[in-house]
Amino acid sequence: MRRRPRTGRSVLVCPQCGSAKIVQVAGMITGAVYHCLACDYQGALVLEIDVPEDGDPPA
Ligand SMILES: [Zn+2]
Repeated sequence: MRRRPRTGRSVLVCPQCGSAKIVQVAGMITGAVYHCLACDYQGALVLEIDVPEDGDPPA
């Protein structure tokens, strides 16, 4: 089994609770705004993390 870094895919996660249940709400003049369905966080700041293709994204 080779171990090489995969560019795979990345997911957006909530900076507050770490959930990947992030949706982008209407972008405004200031840019995109995101909404976390898990903790109701809303803001422009989200974390982007890489996940392996065979891995599970955070809940
Ligand atoms: Zn959250």
